[in-house]
Amino acid sequence: MADTVQDQQEQPAQQPTYTRRRRTPTPPPPDPYAILDEDESAPLYVPLKQRRAQLVSKLAAKGTGGAAAAAEKRKREELEEEEKERERDEEEARRKKREAQTLLMEAQEVKRQKAIEESAKTEQQKREEEEAKILAAQEATRKKLAGAEEVAKGIVYTERMKATWRPPHYIRGKSEEELEAIRDKFHILVSGDDIPPPIPNFRDMKLPKPLLEYLKKKKISAPTPIQLQGLPVAFSGRDMIGIAFTGSGKTLAFSLPLLMLALEEEKRLPFMQGEGPVGIIMCPSRELARQTFEGLNEMARCLEQGGYPQVRSLLCIGGISMAEQGQTLANGFHMVVATPGRLQDMLEKRKFTLNQCKYLCMDEADRMIDMGFEEDVRNILSFFKHQRQTLLFSATMPKRIQDFAQSALVQPILVNVGRAGAASLNIIQEVEYVKQEAKMVYLLECLQKTAPPVIIFSDNKNEVDDIQEYLLLKGVEAVAIHGSKTQEEREYAIKSFKSGKKDVMVASGVASKGLDFSEIQHVINFTMPKEIEDYTHQIGRTGRGDKTGIATTFINMQTPEQTLLDLKYLLMEAKQKVPPFLLSIEDPNVGADGKPIGCTNCGGLGHTIRNCPKLEENQRRTMAGIGRGGDSGGGGW
Ligand code: ADP
Ligand code: MG
Repeated sequence: MADTVQDQQEQPAQQPTYTRRRRTPTPPPPDPYAILDEDESAPLYVPLKQRRAQLVSKLAAKGTGGAAAAAEKRKREELEEEEKERERDEEEARRKKREAQTLLMEAQEVKRQKAIEESAKTEQQKREEEEAKILAAQEATRKKLAGAEEVAKGIVYTERMKATWRPPHYIRGKSEEELEAIRDKFHILVSGDDIPPPIPNFRDMKLPKPLLEYLKKKKISAPTPIQLQGLPVAFSGRDMIGIAFTGSGKTLAFSLPLLMLALEEEKRLPFMQGEGPVGIIMCPSRELARQTFEGLNEMARCLEQGGYPQVRSLLCIGGISMAEQGQTLANGFHMVVATPGRLQDMLEKRKFTLNQCKYLCMDEADRMIDMGFEEDVRNILSFFKHQRQTLLFSATMPKRIQDFAQSALVQPILVNVGRAGAASLNIIQEVEYVKQEAKMVYLLECLQKTAPPVIIFSDNKNEVDDIQEYLLLKGVEAVAIHGSKTQEEREYAIKSFKSGKKDVMVASGVASKGLDFSEIQHVINFTMPKEIEDYTHQIGRTGRGDKTGIATTFINMQTPEQTLLDLKYLLMEAKQKVPPFLLSIEDPNVGADGKPIGCTNCGGLGHTIRNCPKLEENQRRTMAGIGRGGDSGGGGW
């Protein structure tokens, strides 16, 4: 195409030459001395200059002289002069043409480059635009994460909460570079304004002595990364999003600040009947709520024994009778650990109010905000009468949720240890190809890998029951837990498994989030979960604190390819051995840099939002008008 343009351009460039040529209208007169015979053998085209030279030499040879010769000479000189002038003109035209051509070509080259870039960019842009559209369509249906009254009255909190806690003087004196160096050392990423300093030991956090002793007794000697940055942020009264690996001690990072707040309030004015709470921790499952509640109680007891005032907490979960906690309800309480369903119920029945509540933490927050739980959370928010400190914690927190959560937070600080959704590095992850029909038999063999306790996950309630039955038949001490079991059955399962009476627990998603059975040696994913975040949480039941653990996952032809891709990237990221059958799966969605694009909807790296299994599942559920509760999520709150 470039050539055509060039050809077209050549013509106007030559035109001046022709115009000027007209100044030599008279061709030389017929030559009386032409030597035709010789010319015949000559080549068809002889340049003019040469022809003239030939003529001159021929004339000279014929000995013509006198006036004719002089006239001839003059004519020749004139012709030569004209010839020279024409050559000069041609040269000039050529130069101009060359110049024009270079500029033109340059322009074309630039254009061509741009077109190439654009076509490459459009690919990416197109993809980004499309993904943004999908995300926007999702978000369009989303209301602000705030209480109805706040939304209605247009109440927007802009000021941070005030807190009395201050970092110790010597830490306040540290330069920003020194603080950044500490964060770097522990791989902590932070964002937000006026971020409180990281504090690498508990003593400097000004914890009461009995609490320091409690931690020591628990062999918790130094704060984990999420704690050493998250605790100062939370103690300072700041809103935050905390993201850290499974088993990295997030519970302590939000329990201690609540406990301190409770203590402070109680010291100021003792709590009486009908008063409280000052803070709430919400969890996506009953089991997790109970675990957190027990941790809080243990710490509260230590404080009391150490001469501090008594602070009380209330467990507010479905499936239990609140009458058991009549005493706590009667005396007033400082803290509530709850699942949203029961909490909402209690608030609606006016069993207590949130008038004094200043602190709201959501553990496994992405699960809570996610489909189905969101309305409950919003409803609970509407019971708040004033601003509160809001904290969100999880090991998985896709960008979508982070963005959405911002609407509930005031000048939040993001504390991020490792990529959101990345697996804990304390876990050895093994992936095995096991045919569907061979799974049960292979499971027995697999159980030999480690000593008990072992937890086996399946995303199907019936399969959970089948596995338990099979194991019992084979003489393995196994319990089972899933959303369709009664609360007693669930609690019995957890208790007997935690206490070591049973070796194996077969579980559906219910038990996958947040539960801390510190001794678990081995997690077996009987079926690879469709959503990679579930995988991260499930294998995260082992390798807790500073212990290591093994996770074995069965995959086969029935595992969707993009799930396998998600898994492949997760393994690579955690520097695990990637089996050849996973390595051989090609990723159709790599970016220009050869790296996976990843999904903005969930934490998966092996797909984009366009084929996100979570999005599909959510849409399916929305269409069917069902929440996420039941078995895969909250497990009936
Ligand atoms: P996460 O919620 O991040 O998954 P948890 O808060 O349940 O993790 O803590 C996992 C385990 O680590 C718990 O058994 C807890 O007692 C232990 N743990 C918490 N903090 C520390 C610490 N600073 N050092 C050692 N172990 C800790
Ligand atoms: Mg947890």
